[in-house]
Amino acid sequence: MPRILLTGGSGFIAAHILDTLLQRGHSVVTTVRSGIKGQRILDAYPENAGSTLDYVNVEDIEQPGAFDKAVISEPPFDFVIHTASPYHFKSQDNQKELLGPAVNGTIGLLESIVKNAPSVKRVVITSSSAAILDPSQPTKVYSEADWCPITKEQALLGPANGYRASKTFAKSSTAMLSLGCIGNGPHGDVTRPLVLGPVLHHLDSLAQLNTSNQRIRDLMTGAARDACPPTGNHLFVDVRDLAMGHALAAERPDAAGRRFFMVGAASPTRRSPRSWLPIATSHWQGAGAGDYPSQGSYGFDNSVSKRVLGMTYRPLRESVADAVTSLQRFLA
Ligand code: NDP
Repeated sequence: MPRILLTGGSGFIAAHILDTLLQRGHSVVTTVRSGIKGQRILDAYPENAGSTLDYVNVEDIEQPGAFDKAVISEPPFDFVIHTASPYHFKSQDNQKELLGPAVNGTIGLLESIVKNAPSVKRVVITSSSAAILDPSQPTKVYSEADWCPITKEQALLGPANGYRASKTFAKSSTAMLSLGCIGNGPHGDVTRPLVLGPVLHHLDSLAQLNTSNQRIRDLMTGAARDACPPTGNHLFVDVRDLAMGHALAAERPDAAGRRFFMVGAASPTRRSPRSWLPIATSHWQGAGAGDYPSQGSYGFDNSVSKRVLGMTYRPLRESVADAVTSLQRFLA
């Protein structure tokens, strides 16, 4: 039974990766920032808790040596999947809140593996379309071969640039590190756009909802009645497909060392929040922001993920509808 360390288990995407890994018979240890968060995850899987599922505390991934102990396990880990990274557009200090944890957290994890976990055969890193797309070329067709051209100077200007740079620099730093240091096997990365779909992880209220699903929440609550949320990224992928992609990227021998651009199957004109409205709710009446992209929609080529991993993708309708269903309990 393969043993996997999954970082950031309390997150929206990691919760689905954990679910998929357990269903596929893996043994998983996940990192969380507190014992309360770890216990909630164990409580959600009583049949796995303590046998094929456990947690370890890593409070701040950016601290030097943060993963030194977490990567040590008995039996030892075969794979590591790294999702923990800040994803929000509220930062006041991009270096401190976004770039530092994303870049240093990823490099620190790889260093801990090199130092303390020689059994690890592969590291799968959760990247983002933010590390691929170039906003100045909105109609280009993008694939794994592309890199966002953001500079260090631009990285400090505004939260959107900060996030884009955090994912771009995190990956480019690890690429350099892997050539020089990782002696125990190649790593791959799973790169994807806006992630939508049902919420599995613990939430006390809708205020804690992860960034990508907040657009759906705002349509449901009516918060977007007068200002439909801006259409930042027209590409999407369902969180359940993405979770399967992470599992396959770890399991498949031919996935080693590859980058996968995972994008769902919606048609180009159906990817803006305005098009989600009939699916999500009838609350919203406004117009303007969130409209169909005026300058064209990013093109995408997800054929490598289909060919190498055998990925299939859910349509947007299913992702939005299931996200709404999973959030309805908070509005009852
Ligand atoms: P979430 O905010 O739900 O999850 C982020 C996870 O990272 C949480 O477990 C969080 O812990 C943890 N984390 C953040 N900063 C730190 C830190 N300094 N130290 C320790 N843990 C930390 O977001 P998602 O699940 O949506 O995102 C997961 C990954 O996917 C990220 O790498 C993100 O960049 C990437 N991504 C997401 C997209 C999306 O549309 N959702 C799109 C593209 C990429 P805690 O819960 O305790 O705060």
